[in-house]
Amino acid sequence: MILDSKTPEGPIKDKWTKHKNDINVVGPANKRNIDIIVVGTGLAGGSASASLAEMGYNVKAFCYQDSPRRAHSIAAQGGINAAKNYQNDGDSIYRLFYDTVKGGDYRAREANVYRLAEVSVNIIDQCVAQGVPFARDYGGLLDNRSFGGVLVSRTFYARGQTGQQLLLGAYSAMNRQIAKGKIQMFNRHEMVELVKVDGKARGIIARNLITGELERHSAHAVVIASGGYGNVFFLSTNAMGSNTTAAWKIHRNGAFFANPCYTQIHPTCIPRSGEHQSKLTLMSESLRNDGRIWVPKNLEDAEKIRSKTIKPTELKEEDRDYYLERRYPAFGNLVPRDVASRAAKERCDAGYGVNSTGEAVYLDFSAAIERYGKEKALVSGIKQPSVEKIIELGEEVVEQKYGNLFQMYEKIVAENPYKTPMMIYPAVHYTMGGVWVDYNLMTTIPGCYCIGEANFSDHGANRLGASALMQGLADGYFVLPYTIGDFLANDIRTGPISTDLKEFEIAEKNVSDTIDKLMSIKGDKPVDHFHKRLGKVMWEFAGMARNKEGLEHAISEIKTIRKEFWENVRIPGDKDEMNTELEKAGRVADFLELGELFAKDGLERSESAGGHFREESQTPEGEALRNDKDFAFTSAWEFVGEPSEAILHKEQLEFNDIELKQRSYK
Ligand SMILES: Cc1cc2nc3c(=O)[nH]c(=O)nc-3n(C[C@H](O)[C@H](O)[C@H](O)COP(=O)(O)OP(=O)(O)OC[C@H]3O[C@@H](n4cnc5c(N)ncnc54)[C@H](O)[C@@H]3O)c2cc1C
Repeated sequence: MILDSKTPEGPIKDKWTKHKNDINVVGPANKRNIDIIVVGTGLAGGSASASLAEMGYNVKAFCYQDSPRRAHSIAAQGGINAAKNYQNDGDSIYRLFYDTVKGGDYRAREANVYRLAEVSVNIIDQCVAQGVPFARDYGGLLDNRSFGGVLVSRTFYARGQTGQQLLLGAYSAMNRQIAKGKIQMFNRHEMVELVKVDGKARGIIARNLITGELERHSAHAVVIASGGYGNVFFLSTNAMGSNTTAAWKIHRNGAFFANPCYTQIHPTCIPRSGEHQSKLTLMSESLRNDGRIWVPKNLEDAEKIRSKTIKPTELKEEDRDYYLERRYPAFGNLVPRDVASRAAKERCDAGYGVNSTGEAVYLDFSAAIERYGKEKALVSGIKQPSVEKIIELGEEVVEQKYGNLFQMYEKIVAENPYKTPMMIYPAVHYTMGGVWVDYNLMTTIPGCYCIGEANFSDHGANRLGASALMQGLADGYFVLPYTIGDFLANDIRTGPISTDLKEFEIAEKNVSDTIDKLMSIKGDKPVDHFHKRLGKVMWEFAGMARNKEGLEHAISEIKTIRKEFWENVRIPGDKDEMNTELEKAGRVADFLELGELFAKDGLERSESAGGHFREESQTPEGEALRNDKDFAFTSAWEFVGEPSEAILHKEQLEFNDIELKQRSYK
């Protein structure tokens, strides 16, 4: 089956405007009679809920945390992109569009990416109006910094807490509607099943996580905004609770799952410290604006550093290998994440790693501290400042820009990153793959939409930094609120959907049976045992580098782990109460299916593209080598039972406005 993306006709710059003019609209009086369920209240779901309610729809919003404010989006550090060209450095909608398509290694849908770039400018205005405290320059105008894969400064930020501030903005917009009764908020509720009536998404089954009770909720449309599935690797920078359950349940009900193997491994994370770790920590990409990445030039020095015979600060400039600046002079330390991660792995695999496990490189701020210190001394009129004074002033500037990140690093690693370079290593961070959606953000189930990181989104095979927040908020504030009307216009006379319908009864019974099955296993291994094993297989065979043999092995290993999970998992407590092990078990059961599809997708795609690096397909310099002749498509998988038997559908990608060529950041 060839998938229809419903991309509008016409020149790319007019498509979105034309589409908005062409689609159906629900009148204000009728919106009052229409209910929409939104699963997830992170930046995507929060912004969508607020906008839909503001427009007049009745929204029922769900999250598993105790408040929308605790969504994983709050962790976002570095910033959000927008093509405002405030820095007058030649930015434009086209340039943001181009950078994003190229950054994603030409595996994204052109029309969607153009629309994203187009609405990016509105997002900043919207958030400023909500009071989001973006950083400002001396003159009071909004400030920008750079992120990887681009040559302009277009990233808006609020120190290292951009996600938190944006989420507070979306949350206050939601609260306004909660107070007016237009949003009914269901905190501590987990969607565990989709309900379809006559083939359309008409409701969900949710588990009240406090009482364990199963609840039926109906609506005229269901929006999934449940975030990404990076935790399939067990260790990732995602919040511990991030999971794939909502997305996987709709996949099992007919929503195709696109490009599951496209995962982002972020180059600047705090390295693993041991086997007992349950979480990894990101050091924002914004740090690469000023931090320089290096390893020792000589193997002997690397060995001395590992054995702590010498300190990194003792290594002379000429004995350091700033390998990104050496390999990619044009973009230097700001190459895209997939490129930077692979380059770090290459150096560490070759023996140049700098921590005890050999899996770390340096991110060094000494040059920036000196540069900023000299500049500040000049501005402050300090004549012939001492070295100590320069460093003191420079550290003050760095603290203003990245203070909370430095503090976080020091708390975790117990080293002062102002005085000694940070140690970093790549870690799983973001998933470009997700539920397949058309131009309207509708899945292959009528009336079921998917937004934010949960959909396969606009990032192709690699997401550029600061573009996830842009996409989540574009989907929630500016795209879905228009496109959903096209479907709902047919429902103005439908009336309330009854939860007494047999479809709800059957769905609830299925959930109840699955919970009973899980509780009755009474095995002797906790849920995490299986999750960790899954994560290890994923990291080793479907991580930063993949090959045919490894992926085949991963598929069979995951099947084995899944079988053992269903025979031997131990869930203490009861189902009719708060039971976090039961919650985890349900999520891991879904990860154990998704992991297999992930590996299958990676096996099928024998080209390399962005974050999907097939060892069989690389240039002599070790860069990802695409095969456009055979693989210029989005893989969309249909569930038919076992994940490894899923049926592949293709959405052919067309490049009319950007020339298709191998990526280069040199
Ligand atoms: C450490 C870190 C830093 C980052 N920094 C940046 C950055 O600087 N810039 C950038 O652009 N991107 C950044 N990202 C990526 C970005 O934060 C995420 O992609 C984005 O926040 C995802 O938003 P979302 O709304 O799609 O999902 P989330 O914020 O993950 O929200 C998911 C929501 O779904 C709910 N949910 C999930 N499943 C269910 C269920 N079954 N039932 C009910 N509710 C459910 C949750 O409760 C939550 O409300 C960062 C990511 C990480 C990990």
